[in-house]
Amino acid sequence: MPEINLAIVGVGKIVRDQHLPAVAANGDYRLVAAASRHGRVEGIDNFTSIEAMLAAMPSIDAVSLCMPPQYRYEAAVKALAAGKHVFLEKPPGATLSEVADLAAMAEAKGVSLFASWHSRYAPAVEAAREFLAGTPIRSMRVSWKEDVRQWHPNQDWIWQPGGLGVFDPGINALSIVTRILPRPVFATAATLEFPENRDAPIAASIAFTDAAGLDLQAEFDWRQTGRQSWDIVASTEAGEMVLSEGGAKLSVDGRLVHEQPEREYPALYERFAQIIKAGQSDVDLAPLRHVADAFMLGRRKVVEAFHD
Ligand code: NAP
Repeated sequence: MPEINLAIVGVGKIVRDQHLPAVAANGDYRLVAAASRHGRVEGIDNFTSIEAMLAAMPSIDAVSLCMPPQYRYEAAVKALAAGKHVFLEKPPGATLSEVADLAAMAEAKGVSLFASWHSRYAPAVEAAREFLAGTPIRSMRVSWKEDVRQWHPNQDWIWQPGGLGVFDPGINALSIVTRILPRPVFATAATLEFPENRDAPIAASIAFTDAAGLDLQAEFDWRQTGRQSWDIVASTEAGEMVLSEGGAKLSVDGRLVHEQPEREYPALYERFAQIIKAGQSDVDLAPLRHVADAFMLGRRKVVEAFHD
C-alpha cells in the first residue's frame, strides 16, 4: 500500500518527461493531485494554484515543486506551513538564503525537505566517486556544452534574473563534481558571457581549486551545435578517468568500466521516500553556492544578442 499521498506543482516538461513515470513506478507513492496554471495530469484532481489544492486536499502528505526556480520559494513556504514534505526540483531556489530559510522552516515543522540533484543519481557517479577516492588527482576538466535551442526552446524564465542561464544545465555538472571529489573545492576565477539582450549567461568558465591545490576548470556553453558534451575528465595517478554523457558512463584509460541504464528520477523518488520515512531532510547547497560564487567573482563579458 502506498504510504505517501503526493501532489505535483508546475506541470511542464520535466514533470511529463520524468516525474510522472518515476512516481507511477514507485509503490511508496499515490499521486493524488496536481496544481498548475495551465498544465493538467489526467486521472487525478487538478487545481490552478497550490493554495486551492492544499485547502481542498488535507490528505496530501508531500509535494514536488517543479516550476522554474524563481517561483519555488513562495510555493514551498505554503506547503511547509501546511505541514507537507517538500521535494524541490533543481536548482532548489533562486538564492542561497531562501533555501536556507526553507530548511529551517522544514526543521521547525518536523517535515522533510529534499533539495534534489538528479545528475548525482546518474548511473556512473558513485563509481567515479569511488575511483577518485583511491588515487591522487592531478587535474580535472568539466565540459558541459549543449545547444540551448534544442534543449530549452522558448523557456523565457531561464534567461531572466534567477533563471541561471547556462548554469541551469551547468549546475548539474557541479552537483556531480561536488559529489565525486574527495575534498571541497572553491572558485578562484570566472568569466560569464551575457548576451546583450539577456539577464543570464549563455556561457561561463570557472577555475576552481581545493586545499591540496587541485587544478579544476569548468566550461559551460549553450552555443554548442553538433556533438553535445556533458563530460568530466580527471587526470589521476591511476589513469585518465572520463565520466561522460552526464554521468552515465565511466571509462579509465579508454576502457569502459561502468555503464548501467539511466534511472535518475526513480532514484530521486526512492531517496525522497527514504528521508520522509527517516524523518530527515537532504539539502546540500554546494552546487548552488558555486554558481553564486561564479556570479560574485566572475568577470562579465557582453556577447552578441541571443534570439530563440
Ligand atoms: P517549464 O516546462 O518551462 O516549466 C514548468 C512549469 O512551471 C510550467 O509548465 C508552468 O506550468 C510552471 N511555471 C512557469 N512559469 C511559472 C511562474 N511564473 N509561476 C508559477 N509557475 C510557473 O520547465 P521545466 O523544463 O519543466 O523545468 C522546471 C524545473 O525543472 C527547472 O528548475 C529546471 O531546471 C528543472 N529541470 C528541468 C529539466 C528539463 O530537462 N527540462 C531537467 C531537470 C530539471 P503552468 O503554466 O501550468 O503553471
